[in-house]
Amino acid sequence: MTDRIETLAVHAGAEPDLHTGAVVPAIQMSTTFKQDGVGGLRNGFEYGRSGNPTRLALEQAIASLEGAPHGLAYASGLAATQNVLYLLDPGDRFLMSDDVYGGTWRLADKVWRRYGIETDTLDLRDLDAVAAAFGSEHPPKMVWIETPSNPLLKVIDISAVARLAAVADATTVVDNTFATPYIQRPLDLGADLVLHSATKYLGGHSDVIGGLIATRSDELEERLRFHQNAAGAVPSPFDCFLVMRGIRTLAVRMERASANALVLALWLSERPEVERVHYPGLPDHPAAQLVERQMRVPGAMLSFELRDEERARRLAGATRLFTLAESLGAVESLIELPAPMTHASVADSSLAVPASLVRLSVGIEAADDLRADLEAAFTASAT
Ligand SMILES: *Cc1c(COP(=O)(O)O)cnc(C)c1O
Repeated sequence: MTDRIETLAVHAGAEPDLHTGAVVPAIQMSTTFKQDGVGGLRNGFEYGRSGNPTRLALEQAIASLEGAPHGLAYASGLAATQNVLYLLDPGDRFLMSDDVYGGTWRLADKVWRRYGIETDTLDLRDLDAVAAAFGSEHPPKMVWIETPSNPLLKVIDISAVARLAAVADATTVVDNTFATPYIQRPLDLGADLVLHSATKYLGGHSDVIGGLIATRSDELEERLRFHQNAAGAVPSPFDCFLVMRGIRTLAVRMERASANALVLALWLSERPEVERVHYPGLPDHPAAQLVERQMRVPGAMLSFELRDEERARRLAGATRLFTLAESLGAVESLIELPAPMTHASVADSSLAVPASLVRLSVGIEAADDLRADLEAAFTASAT
C-alpha cells in the first residue's frame, strides 16, 4: 500500500468489517470460538488467550508501523519485556544500556538474576566498549537499547550496536517507546526486535496499559508467540481497541508534541535557574549528528537539571498545566522528578539519576501556554 507512517497509522489493522461494513471493527469480547467439527478453526481463533480478532488487528497495526511481518500484543510494556527475556537461558549474559526504564532494570536485576541470567549495564554510546563486550569470552546473548534514553535523553546508534551484536550472534532489542515508529524504525536499522510500552505514545491518552513487540524473524516470532500463550500476559480486547484508537492519531500527535518540546527546550536553555537541558533537538546535544540521521523529529521528552533537589521539588509542585505525575507520552503535558518517582527502583545502582533532574513529557497544548506555565512555576518556586 504505502510505507508512510501517517497513512499506515490511520489504516493499519483497520479493514471495515466484512459482514456489517462497520468502518470501525467491533470489539470482539468472546473468549471462545465455535469450531466447524473438532479442530475446524475459523481464521485460526480457538481460545481468547491464544488469539482474538481485536488483538490480531492491533498486532497487525504495530507490525505494519514498524515495517515487520509479525506483531505481538501484551498486557503491559513489562509483560512484553518479560516475554523477550524468555528467549534467554540460565547462564546467558544480558547487556543493557545504563540509562534504561527503571522497571526494565528491576525485572532483569531482581527477577531474572534469580533464574541465572546475568545483566551487565554499559553506556552503549561507547562503541569500543560494546565491541569489547561482544568480543569477550562470554559475550552477551542479547543487547537491550533504549534510545532516546529515559530520563537523560542519551541517543544510541542503533545500526552500530546491532552490527556489533550480529558478529556475536546476539539478539538486538530496541525499546522504541520514547521515539515510536513515527520517529525511528529500529528494524530498518538492523534490530531484531522492537518493543513498546503502548501505555505511552501509541495509546497516547493515559487511559490504557499495554505492550507490543514487532519482528521480521519468523523464528523469534514463533518463540515469542509460544510464550505469549504459555505465560498468558495478554491484553483485553477493549485495551487493544484503545491502543488502536490512539495509533490512528500518532503522526499528528508526535509532530505537534515534538515541535512544542523544541520550543520549551530552547527556552529552558536560556533560563538562569537551569543548569543543563537534555533534549535531542538542541544543537549542542552530544549526539546531534546521529539525531539528525536516526530520528525524524527529536521527540517530546526532555529533562533539565536545576541547582538542587529542593528547587526541583518546588518547581514540580508549582505548575498548573503540567500535571505532576509519572508516565509520559499522552496528549496532556506531565512533569516529574525521576529520582524519587519513576527511577526510585534504580536509586542505589549504577543507573541512579541526578536528584535535581526534572523530566517533562510535553503534550499537544499550545506551546505558549506551556511556556507561560513553566515561567509562572519558576517564579512561584523561587523563594
Ligand atoms: C513505561 C515504560 C515501560 C514499561 O511499560 P508498562 O506499560 O508500564 O509496563 C518500558 N519502557 C519504557 C521506555 C517505558 O517508558
